[in-house]
Amino acid sequence: MTTSVLVLGAGFGGLELSSRLSQTLGDQVDVTLIDRADAFVFGFSKLDVMFGKRTPEAVRLAYGDYATPHVRFLRETITAIDPESRRVVTDGGTYEADVLVVALGAEYDVAATSGLAEDGHEFYSVAGAEAVRELLPGFTSGTVVIGICGAPFKCPPAPSETAFLLDEYLRERGLRDAVKIQLVMPFGRPVPPSPETSDAILARFAERGIEFVPDRKVVALDPGTHEAVLSDGSFLPYDLFLGVPVHRVPDVVSASGMTQNGWIPVEPGTGATRYPNVYAVGDVTSVGTPKAGVFAERAARVVADQLIARIRGAAEPPGYDGTGACFMEFGNREVAGVAVDFFSTPGHPTGTFTEPSMEMAAEKAAFGPERHARWFGLDG
Ligand SMILES: Cc1cc2nc3c(=O)[nH]c(=O)nc-3n(C[C@H](O)[C@H](O)[C@H](O)COP(=O)(O)OP(=O)(O)OC[C@H]3O[C@@H](n4cnc5c(N)ncnc54)[C@H](O)[C@@H]3O)c2cc1C
Repeated sequence: MTTSVLVLGAGFGGLELSSRLSQTLGDQVDVTLIDRADAFVFGFSKLDVMFGKRTPEAVRLAYGDYATPHVRFLRETITAIDPESRRVVTDGGTYEADVLVVALGAEYDVAATSGLAEDGHEFYSVAGAEAVRELLPGFTSGTVVIGICGAPFKCPPAPSETAFLLDEYLRERGLRDAVKIQLVMPFGRPVPPSPETSDAILARFAERGIEFVPDRKVVALDPGTHEAVLSDGSFLPYDLFLGVPVHRVPDVVSASGMTQNGWIPVEPGTGATRYPNVYAVGDVTSVGTPKAGVFAERAARVVADQLIARIRGAAEPPGYDGTGACFMEFGNREVAGVAVDFFSTPGHPTGTFTEPSMEMAAEKAAFGPERHARWFGLDG
């Protein structure tokens, strides 16, 4: 008997889940994977695009190349999800399956921050990163404020990486002395679960003249005065504002009734929602880990392994452990590592740090191509 699985969203979570089911179960499973985009882009590639390290074309993993066996990829926009009946409507049809997995990620609500669209530049979308890439060559002096407009936000180390990469970009152009860089964060430390990582970042910030403004977010921009209004009521003048917008689930997810407090609640160990045979993984959930691809990927693997065990009549596999390891750009073309454990001591995540090095940079360079091959069925 073939089990049908409908996977909504072909990002980190949906791609990992689909390829694992396909590789392990073969024709015991019939997977339909739906996404409205024409390509997947790794989050970290947006920073490469923004600082001119790679072209927008070079970082696109086109879904047109998708060739994973036993998975049908549909480029359609999902317009309704009924979790009770596991029925999904798109602009191309209506689908039902034995198992439904929601992996639709998080979107950006630029309009939630007054002034951001008019006077600032979000750099978390591909289009936003491309726009910043175009304007950076013309920016030669003044103050850059990198600011977070709401939490949770994707990849908490990414704004610190952005500060390092901006510093590197300006140094390489001989402009660093003419530019002040400030980073406004809603946390007391750059990576709160790992004091070692935070210490290393703060030490490198001090060395590089990057100012860290902790425990505040940006609530508005004043286009008249070019000032960021911070959550403590203070103002920060800028010449260039690079913003991380407020995040939210896609509209189709909020309309499905699956969310509570803005995100889909799931059982942390299993990814199960409160609807039978409906799971959710990745940024769309409130599972308790950061919104990052490596966590979405691990959660997807756990859901896949449970389905595999169920289909094969095997014992229940271990649950999701809430761990994940990320690479972190440190400037000077060096990459560091941070590994975090969110579940072992509830409420007290812990982390370990790997010093920045060129070796870590080489490991990071292999991360994307490995996944491209595995996810898209290109590895043989
Ligand atoms: C600048 C930046 C740097 C980052 N760096 C890292 C990093 O170094 N390491 C790391 O692990 N993570 C990083 N991330 C975070 C990472 O990109 C996300 O956390 C990850 O992609 C989440 O995976 P997901 O599967 O939950 O959602 P996504 O990968 O966002 O996938 C969701 C998919 O759903 C689709 N979708 C949404 N709505 C619809 C609809 N209505 N119809 C059809 N399709 C729809 C979207 O097109 C998308 O493809 C970074 C993010 C940014 C912005």
